[in-house]
Amino acid sequence: MEKDNSKKLSNPQVTIDIIKKYDFAFQKRFGQNFLIDGRVIDKIIAAAEITKEDTVLEIGPGIGTMTQYLAEAAGQVIAVEIDKNLLPIYEETLADYDNVTIINNDILKVDIHELIKGKAQKVKVVANLPYYITTPIIMGLFENHIPAESITVMVQKEVADRMQSGPGSKDYGALSLAVQYYAKPYIVANVPPNCFMPRPNVGSAVIRLTSWEEPPVAVKDEKLMFKLIRASFNQRRKTLQNGINNSPDLSFSKEQVVNALREMGLSESVRGEALSLEQFARLSDLLIEQK
Ligand code: SAM
Repeated sequence: MEKDNSKKLSNPQVTIDIIKKYDFAFQKRFGQNFLIDGRVIDKIIAAAEITKEDTVLEIGPGIGTMTQYLAEAAGQVIAVEIDKNLLPIYEETLADYDNVTIINNDILKVDIHELIKGKAQKVKVVANLPYYITTPIIMGLFENHIPAESITVMVQKEVADRMQSGPGSKDYGALSLAVQYYAKPYIVANVPPNCFMPRPNVGSAVIRLTSWEEPPVAVKDEKLMFKLIRASFNQRRKTLQNGINNSPDLSFSKEQVVNALREMGLSESVRGEALSLEQFARLSDLLIEQK
């Protein structure tokens, strides 16, 4: 039987009615652009491959639009929302779902390990992210080693492109390398502004990041590699050697950097954007040896 989604918040009129009824004022500072297109939500749920075996961590449920779909597909949903003005709305929009827990907190401050502790089920992160903190949220999930099988999120189109691009592309940078060290990115769909209320002034995309069981490259000191990556891209038009030697976080001499590059068969004027993840790992290992 076809599911009747017409009463769900993905129906724009249902969202408008709720917003009016609760006199809800959209907060720009929280990046509030609510989804009003059920087909987009279906695509997100399908891409995340959610089953009743899963615990879903949703970041920023808004009025609960995607949460309604997640609750139907998953075993349980834990949703973290910063805006306390949304809390009374859930009493109505999520009343039919007994497998949803709402946590009123800042996702950047909450202890996610604590939230998902004891969940025998598999954890998947699914969200229409607040765009102003996309990078800190994603990096926080990875760097804190949150045991999530996958992260399926709506982000700004430009950020999705950066996450999945490789050396030589104009979008390639520290975010691409960090994401690809932890996960395999795949852009699921592009989403135009008219799928949201209010409309954002940028295009969006859904990206799925599937966590690697083992990182795709071996590196002796992960932290050092990421410091090198950040230093190399901090000053895009400079050479990688300059970037590393000018970084306050690193203390290698010019000679050490040039030696390592030579050992790798790279010119001392090479730029960070030319190096692959494997090459950054090798550079990091060579620099440790020279210490
Ligand atoms: N999931 C809803 C949807 O798709 O309609 C809303 C998505 S909206 C783009 C982003 C949501 O994240 C908003 O509800 C916003 O209040 C919430 N948010 C913003 N900053 C947050 C933070 N630091 N921690 C938790 N939630 C946050």
